[in-house]
Amino acid sequence: MEKIIVLGTGSASVTENFNTCFVLEDSSQEYLLVDTGGGNGILKQLKLANIDLNKIHNIFISHKHIDHLYGLLWIYRFVDLSMRKGKYNGTLNIYCHDEVAKIIRDQIRTLLRKEQQLFLDKEIFINIVNDHEKVKILNYELEFLDIHSKSDKQYGFKTILNNGKTLGFLGDEPLYEELYKDVENIDWLLHEAFCLETEADKFKPREKNHDTVKSASIKAEKLNVKNLVLWHTQENLGKNRKERYIQEAKENFLGKIYVPNDFDEIIL
Ligand SMILES: [Zn+2]
Repeated sequence: MEKIIVLGTGSASVTENFNTCFVLEDSSQEYLLVDTGGGNGILKQLKLANIDLNKIHNIFISHKHIDHLYGLLWIYRFVDLSMRKGKYNGTLNIYCHDEVAKIIRDQIRTLLRKEQQLFLDKEIFINIVNDHEKVKILNYELEFLDIHSKSDKQYGFKTILNNGKTLGFLGDEPLYEELYKDVENIDWLLHEAFCLETEADKFKPREKNHDTVKSASIKAEKLNVKNLVLWHTQENLGKNRKERYIQEAKENFLGKIYVPNDFDEIIL
């Protein structure tokens, strides 16, 4: 059964939730990890989600912001050690755009010990992907998409799931007009929502190139999206976040709305 295992749902400066990242599990129970959160906490999130890191062979990093990127070095370090112990079968493939690839390579070269760099480009690969490039990953053909970020270069992707439905992941910025044609009529749209529209004066999402629940929902409705997943949020509402976000989304979007908590699973 294909699903999303949610490892984190928070925006950058959260303390109660983990930064937004998730695992896409295909129909053969293989994993694609999408973003890695802001640090060592990714190892705990994977452990609590019962995901063996030795079984993760594919990772996509959307952009260079540290709430998405900094977990990767910890994963790299774990996989390197596992490879040296003979516990990791196969290769690790990291997918990202050129700027992120350079940063990852520089960090490995400057921050890790020489012996921790031996598998780089031999068993651990940093694969540069381009806008609209299609790459076979797991049972999917992923089409990477430049999301036309208003700050730093950022990629998302879309794909056809094994069950025939379509899914699009747009990183942590609003859905911009350039991508409307890519996500129109899509079955699953994974979209950020920094806060409620009623909290916009307080959290100022637009100054940070983020969206509100209302604004994301209006666009999803206009583009005939079937299922809308909202995450990368504030955590001021605590346990009420799910209910309050769904309430605001419902006023503007007629499809199904998901506001997951960390460790929720979404059956696709
Ligand atoms: Zn972010």
